[in-house]
Amino acid sequence: MSKVICFLFLLIPSVFFSQLMRIGIFSRDKINRVNVSYSESSYSIFADSTYIGEINKNDFAEIQQVENDKLKLYVGVLEIGVFSSVKLVQNLSAGNMTLTIKNSDIKPRKYTGDFYFSTGKNGIKIINQVHLEDYIAAVVESEGGVGHHLEYYKAQAVMSRTYALKSKNRHSKDGFDLCDQVHCQAYHYKWRFSNSILTAVKSTQNEVLIDQKLHLVEGFFHANCGGQTSEPDLIWNESIPYLKTFKDTFCIFTKQAKWEKRIEKSKWVDFFQKKYFVSPQDTVFNSQQFNFKQDSRLAFFVDPRYGIPLRDIRDAFQLKSTLFSCSDDGEYVKLSGKGYGHGVGLCQEGAMKMAKSNFSYQQILKYYFEGTKIINLKSIIDVSINDLKTTEPVTFETYFTNSNGE
Ligand SMILES: [Zn+2]
Ligand SMILES: [Zn+2]
Repeated sequence: MSKVICFLFLLIPSVFFSQLMRIGIFSRDKINRVNVSYSESSYSIFADSTYIGEINKNDFAEIQQVENDKLKLYVGVLEIGVFSSVKLVQNLSAGNMTLTIKNSDIKPRKYTGDFYFSTGKNGIKIINQVHLEDYIAAVVESEGGVGHHLEYYKAQAVMSRTYALKSKNRHSKDGFDLCDQVHCQAYHYKWRFSNSILTAVKSTQNEVLIDQKLHLVEGFFHANCGGQTSEPDLIWNESIPYLKTFKDTFCIFTKQAKWEKRIEKSKWVDFFQKKYFVSPQDTVFNSQQFNFKQDSRLAFFVDPRYGIPLRDIRDAFQLKSTLFSCSDDGEYVKLSGKGYGHGVGLCQEGAMKMAKSNFSYQQILKYYFEGTKIINLKSIIDVSINDLKTTEPVTFETYFTNSNGE
């Protein structure tokens, strides 16, 4: 096999070949009893790798955590035994299972794919093994909501797929690829999706965003950048060439464009004095701590020499963003802020507005990730040696001029 083809294969995450994702579901909840019921498919049950039987229509099973980190399995009302793990394997490729968490106010959720139950430090651990594209549809809806333009959903689908493949080792120590929370990507499975989400996922199938070095991009996104995107080094002390700060004019009149919050002055002052040891006699700081102005994004509060990152203030006071200014409001300091989220990468409300204004998803992604390219991972697999008539090292340009890689 040519060196070039080998090189291109290195770009493809192994999960892509299997097309399966392992997602930790209910990952923030403490679960000690879960009921599973069939509705549109049949499932085989395995306990500690032993085949137990089927769950068919109108059947249910229940899994309870018992002492010594074991699971007690019931099928219907019949107690089957105590095991270390339970696996439910879907017999048809379509269909779904309803998971109901007992002794909890969590609403029942429907999922497709297979399920693995074991015990962890927070009770029963549940992993949903699901096809990549089913996972992406659920993420697009969970992260983007309903009722948006098709081109926005396509952009979100490419971003979420890129993120999933790039970050697939994020929870390897927990035994799965990604969790179902915003820590990774929100994944609240719903069996029936809107047609526009299904169309967006299907029409962008296998498409991901890559950078100039042919690596998957860091697929960051956020609700609203407040009119100026953020550089990753302001947030995570890491610089990424295709994620530069720029003025975003598409999101400034949208839902999350502005926010306000009042904080008691005593709490505000205490935070800087106790956590950052700012002297109460520091006249420069005292004069500015209630009158800080931020017209374009800054990294530090008042002055970098005080070493107070705005991201720390955001975390401590649970602010929507770091892009805020302060004003004196009697007993309070009033924060007037813009945007919602860290501001890095794709601005969702800006992307929604662009889609409504007839921009394509390719244009949207190019706007937020300058110098990147959408590729179809399947086309890399299909590319033949004859398509790449070069023995030179492959670069961004040679790949796209020698293959049908757009
Ligand atoms: Zn996570
Ligand atoms: Zn924006």
